[in-house]
Amino acid sequence: MANVIRRLDEAVVNRIAAGEVIQRPANAIKEMIENCLDAKSTSIQVIVKEGGLKFIQVQDNGCGIRKEDLDIVCERFTTSKLQKFEDLASISTYGFRGEALASISHVAHVTVTTKTADAKCAFRATYSDGKIKAPPKPCAGNQGTQIMVEDLFYNVNTRKKALKNPNEEYAKILEVVGRYAIHNSGISFSVKKQGDTMSDVRTLSNASTVDNIRAIFGNAVSRELIEVGCEDVNLAFKMKGYITNANYSVKKCIFLLFINHRLVESAAMRKAIETVYAAYLPKSTHPFLYLSLEIAPQNVDVNVHPTKHEVHFLHEDSILERVQQHVESKLLGSNSSRMYFTQTLLPGVDCSSSEVVKSAANSSVVMKRTSDKVYAHQMVRTDSREQKLDAFLQPVNNLLSAGPTEVLTEVNARSPESSGRPQDAEMEEVSDLVEMADVQEDTVKPGEPSENGHLSPETLPSRKRPWEDMDVELEKNYARKDMTAACTPRRRIINLTSVLTLQEEISNQAHAKLQEMLHEHSFVGCVNPQWALAQYQTKLYLLNTTKLSQELFYQILIYDFANFGVLRLSEPAPLYELSMLALEDPESGWTEEDGPKEGLAEYIVEFLKKKTEMLEDYFSLEIDEEGNLTGLPLLIDNYVPPLEGLPMFVLRLATENEDSESGSTTWKWTVEHVLYKAFRTHLLPPKHFAEDGNILQLANLPDLYKVFERC
Ligand code: ADP
Ligand code: MG
Repeated sequence: MANVIRRLDEAVVNRIAAGEVIQRPANAIKEMIENCLDAKSTSIQVIVKEGGLKFIQVQDNGCGIRKEDLDIVCERFTTSKLQKFEDLASISTYGFRGEALASISHVAHVTVTTKTADAKCAFRATYSDGKIKAPPKPCAGNQGTQIMVEDLFYNVNTRKKALKNPNEEYAKILEVVGRYAIHNSGISFSVKKQGDTMSDVRTLSNASTVDNIRAIFGNAVSRELIEVGCEDVNLAFKMKGYITNANYSVKKCIFLLFINHRLVESAAMRKAIETVYAAYLPKSTHPFLYLSLEIAPQNVDVNVHPTKHEVHFLHEDSILERVQQHVESKLLGSNSSRMYFTQTLLPGVDCSSSEVVKSAANSSVVMKRTSDKVYAHQMVRTDSREQKLDAFLQPVNNLLSAGPTEVLTEVNARSPESSGRPQDAEMEEVSDLVEMADVQEDTVKPGEPSENGHLSPETLPSRKRPWEDMDVELEKNYARKDMTAACTPRRRIINLTSVLTLQEEISNQAHAKLQEMLHEHSFVGCVNPQWALAQYQTKLYLLNTTKLSQELFYQILIYDFANFGVLRLSEPAPLYELSMLALEDPESGWTEEDGPKEGLAEYIVEFLKKKTEMLEDYFSLEIDEEGNLTGLPLLIDNYVPPLEGLPMFVLRLATENEDSESGSTTWKWTVEHVLYKAFRTHLLPPKHFAEDGNILQLANLPDLYKVFERC
């Protein structure tokens, strides 16, 4: 038997309809924010209690509502935005059907306080079921509108029960407001819980879109953004926005899609773009996308239900294809691992808007960031003693790749102590293997502290020399920030304006991120005397050693002006005598078979004289025409090299350069342990290095992984 059909009570009808429009606090807030934007507000503040279920207040500084309109503002189909049906096609405001406030008033207690520019005072009125409860009361208030919504769904039990998690609702609210904030740069937004002093979302009216993305989604996203923008007249659409490059990925796609400035969903669009990213991102990870599409209004179904966020539009497939193409081209252009040897991303310049209050990045609710787990491809080599390029390139019996026993012989044959290198003390760092070999041979004593099975330089007293302490001491004093000639002991204080100006110029030109990279880098290896590879975080850099050293020497010259005399030999040292001295030393390994020492010494002088230009260019080692050593590398500022090592240094310089293999060990050693060590602390890399190709980012580990994954 069929049931009787009855007409529902009007209040019930309205409530059901309202419940469809307003399904949760975030829907109500979205509608209210759109009203604020329609009212040309530049500041929109949201305060909520219990995830908006108990209380929502949205305050703006827009045009306000005229007192005469307050009577009907909450009635259904009352709007100031649409006069006739034809207007629908050209509608530029969010609202047009006067449904939002009415709906809210059917499921909550609504209070509107508003003041227009011409009104003498503000007016306040409360509403229930779409109707004003009493005539508006004059009150104090600034221009703009404040709408309070209390006890949402007080009369819709089922809905109330369904929404029992205020935190979840609050998260939705932050999500919606955050997105509108990003889309509406130039307008300041804030969301906070009632009673809190800190906002959970906060953007400033002078902030850019990227600033806002940073404020809401954090630096991890904002520093990897690529700006996108395309237009197609035939398809009557425009698109702009920001998308993350292939360096960034998250577990869940973050897609902010605005079509004609309305936050919407488009499964088709999401799928189209994710297809493009699939080729760039690690499996089952996703990008961050913020896209704003403007499509000719007549092509969009504007008459969508307010909660029906899913949109469709004319020429959908063609538009999606265009968007896909554009995104692909942008991604390709930004993928550093594919664009080998082009100038790519240097450590990003972060100019974060510090005004972010209680950054939403910290409140897990909005953020779905990469988890804290460190994946293999994110791992960073931090110990430069780990495997270096040489290990792969050199013959097996080489110092750097040899096993402990072979190393022992090598070490004995050219023990660092006897090599006479001016930076002898640096030899402590040469490699794990050397340390280990030494340790096993004679230094290790039972019970002596050992780190990772090796002894740290500090625990090797036999190798310690007086100048090591001094070097450390000076380095400590030598804080980079106040790199004035006056800041270290024993230095002459320079007050010459010209020098100080040049010093200032250097520090003004310094690129902070590059400096950080140089400071923290792990040396990977020398490509050739001019180029070297270094790793910083997950990135591999190709550095022009020559250019960097030139800059270093220049800076040392400027900063050490009138102080570098110590490193210039007060009296030219005849190479011949130095060589003879060295050959006398049993450490040189000279035997009768090598021929007379005098002949060898002459050969050394001639050989080094031939290389003068190179030695000077690469190593600032000066030799005059008479075969005298006149200047030693001014490589490490404030470092007085052990001059008793000079003879052996000269000998090694000549003899080891003779044979390309051991010669390369010398310059490579110098590059790594002298130059790059000095770059770490003593170089203020000028900004132009980031642009002129002297420091290039070759690859980023995550990108390489992506490439490998596809192989
Ligand atoms: P619609 O936005 O579709 O017009 P609403 O129910 O959202 O319908 O709003 C009804 C009317 O109330 C709007 O047309 C507008 O005139 C007025 N209004 C609502 N909120 C504001 C506000 N924040 N500032 C100024 N006017 C507002
Ligand atoms: Mg509206």
